[in-house]
Amino acid sequence: MNPNDFKIIESKGFFDNDAGFRVGAHKLLGLSKPTDVFLLNADYFTVDEKRAVPLIVHELAHFFDQIDEEPAIETNDDENAEAILKSLRPEVLVREHTKRWALHFARAARVLQVKNLTPYSTIGKFLDAAIPSDDRDGPVRARKGW
Ligand SMILES: [Zn+2]
Repeated sequence: MNPNDFKIIESKGFFDNDAGFRVGAHKLLGLSKPTDVFLLNADYFTVDEKRAVPLIVHELAHFFDQIDEEPAIETNDDENAEAILKSLRPEVLVREHTKRWALHFARAARVLQVKNLTPYSTIGKFLDAAIPSDDRDGPVRARKGW
């Protein structure tokens, strides 16, 4: 990466965010080369996997949404995507939290649960861990996906 581009990203002051993902960030930030950006607050470098993985999955759902990938939804994914969107505060909803993002996110949570790849006992608990509590009005009212 061009060092000046890195300085531009640093100068934007993303320090108080938990994480962010932007495909084609060069257009928004005025970078010299095509760049996709994944930011993760350094606080997450020292937390355990149980806390960090859900947020990373949340951000990867943004990646799939931003590259226009259609989610392969099943069972209660659509209903859980609606529950995710309903849990978000209005000011969070306007930022990149689209229905397609929520569908990718709900699907990922279900698959991790079904394959026993997460220590969370329910999809809802996984989703709660994946959305910073400041961004929600309450818990995600997700249902079992199988
Ligand atoms: Zn997000």
